[in-house]
Amino acid sequence: MKKLGLASRILVGLLIGVVVGLILQPFPQVARTYIKPFGDLFLNLIRMIIVPLVLASLVVGTASVENIRKLGRIGVKTIAYYLLTTALAVVIGLIMGNLMQPGSGLTLPTDAKVTAAKPPSLVDVLLNLVPTNPIKAMVDANMLQIIVFSIFLGIAITLVGERAKVLFNFFDGLAEASYKIVRIIMWYAPIGVFALIVPTVATHGAKVLLPLLKLIIALYIGLAIHAGVVYSLLVKTMGKMNPGEFFKKVSPAMLVAFTTCSSSATLPITMDVTEKELNVPKSISSFMLPLGATINMDGTALYQGICALFVAQIFGISLSFSQQLTIVLTATLASIGTAGVPGAGLIMLTMVLTSVGLPMEGIALIAGVDRILDMGRTCLNVTGDMVGALVIHRTEKA
Ligand code: ASP
Repeated sequence: MKKLGLASRILVGLLIGVVVGLILQPFPQVARTYIKPFGDLFLNLIRMIIVPLVLASLVVGTASVENIRKLGRIGVKTIAYYLLTTALAVVIGLIMGNLMQPGSGLTLPTDAKVTAAKPPSLVDVLLNLVPTNPIKAMVDANMLQIIVFSIFLGIAITLVGERAKVLFNFFDGLAEASYKIVRIIMWYAPIGVFALIVPTVATHGAKVLLPLLKLIIALYIGLAIHAGVVYSLLVKTMGKMNPGEFFKKVSPAMLVAFTTCSSSATLPITMDVTEKELNVPKSISSFMLPLGATINMDGTALYQGICALFVAQIFGISLSFSQQLTIVLTATLASIGTAGVPGAGLIMLTMVLTSVGLPMEGIALIAGVDRILDMGRTCLNVTGDMVGALVIHRTEKA
């Protein structure tokens, strides 16, 4: 038999996992007790490497950019790319919600009670970017704070020059060793993915999914359109790459995102494929990807757009055009504020609903199937980061 590539092996793990999960549906407890720990092991392994990987590669990446002006330009382009693609994702979500009407004909369980997430003030958000203690930022794995500190350190190493060379070499070595660890962990990925998907399928049997099938289908069509049209066009025109080739190359990260439901847990793999398969230099990928995993979430934005309409439809509320515009704005912001961990998008959805006066109770209904929605949206979140890195890399080169 021909030796399978990593992406194929992960896919096989996923498919076998789905089958085993279906078989174990009558005994979800068995899946959770005996199979899930192998998935948790995979999650722990990749989480183990996130902080050293991001810190070291971002310091090296920043210190390798020839001048600060270029760094600033990449920064501005990155933010513009993130905002535009995210807003577009919400629009696609709204279109799908209007066309497919996923919430029509549904009624709500009565015991639902949910309170809204309070959005933090802009000043707090900005102040919070700067860690008062970088070691604590690392202990808490606070990505944005680690990013800010690493950029400072990288710039300072460049400015100091010769005497800081030893630091540069240290972080360079740490980054390389971290990449090696990621590669080693990836050997285990097919088993990890298998063990993560089995309990998910066993727990969320057809019984749970059927009532909300329309919402699930609407979301997945929306995600497919965003990937198939928006990303494909970006990859082809600005990224100068064949979209088919692109998706094949990044599929290991997409599959791991799909099963872990966490952009931040997928980050080491996202960085690995972006650098090794897409050939994006560290100076761009090590800056854009940790940032993207934290703030760039097109899948989550699209999901929040659809879900807002879904809730409106359940309660028979019709949303005006200007209310839908408000949703574009708040869902874009809410997705930026969403942490790259499982289920975070559902909590931030409360913010979107509040902004247009929709009842919070709709969330209780969505919560039952959120894991299934989370898999798809996280997959798109991570894909968007990789498209961004490729696009910025190619436009910088040109
Ligand atoms: N799970 C998503 C992610 O990590 C966030 C979300 O819940 O929308 O990208």
